[in-house]
Amino acid sequence: MGDARRPIESVAGLSLETVELLPPVIPRRNVFCVGWNYQSHFDEGAAKAARAVQKIPAHPAFFSKTTTTVNSPHAPVPLHAPVTRQLDWEVELAVVIGKAGTSIAEANALDHVFGYCVANDVSARDVQSRHGGQWFKGKNLDGTCPLGPVLVTRDEIPDPQALDIVCRVNGIVKQRSNTRFQVYPVARLIAEVSEGLTLLPGDVILTGTPAGVGFARDPPERLIDGDLLESEIVGIGILRNPISASVRHGRPQELGLV
Ligand code: MG
Repeated sequence: MGDARRPIESVAGLSLETVELLPPVIPRRNVFCVGWNYQSHFDEGAAKAARAVQKIPAHPAFFSKTTTTVNSPHAPVPLHAPVTRQLDWEVELAVVIGKAGTSIAEANALDHVFGYCVANDVSARDVQSRHGGQWFKGKNLDGTCPLGPVLVTRDEIPDPQALDIVCRVNGIVKQRSNTRFQVYPVARLIAEVSEGLTLLPGDVILTGTPAGVGFARDPPERLIDGDLLESEIVGIGILRNPISASVRHGRPQELGLV
């Protein structure tokens, strides 16, 4: 899969600028996600609104994104107005499962990983809050999970807890952290989500976002038509997704989802 220390710029003599990349994996079922996995992101949300949950729970809070959220590394992300007026960014490390398992021990959990990509858990904050504050609806608008740009195999990332993670909007850094700050490391997430739930090859787990999301800023920020959303993990690559008011559904046909 190439040298994980440098971004891939060409494959087989073709510049990546001249081809359209599709997501490196199309999950067969919902993408698994974790709600709070960086203390800084939990704290910035708590500062904005009274919340029933006062501290990060002892066990990860899971939710999921449907397969029709999955989008390509450089494809437009629909703005989804007027369904939402508060589309927001969340850069995340994505883990792709390679070996099935149930109730996987944390000590063996990384043996079940095939590889890693970059994702953005693009979120509609107003949709989330008007549906009871529960995450599912606001996290499931079509095309709101760009994934890629490549799938780096596990052997090239011996420590998934040492990756710099960055989100930029129009070239301005909004989020910058490192996966060492994850409250629940990748192995723990695999162990916990697989308790009594069989993980399958091709399953994708999004591992949470650090501080710097739009809704928690002062004043709050949101994505608008024409914005360029860049999501980067050093050693994996960069997603570059324009936000588009004219695109409705992401890429479900191209991805074979419908
Ligand atoms: Mg998220």
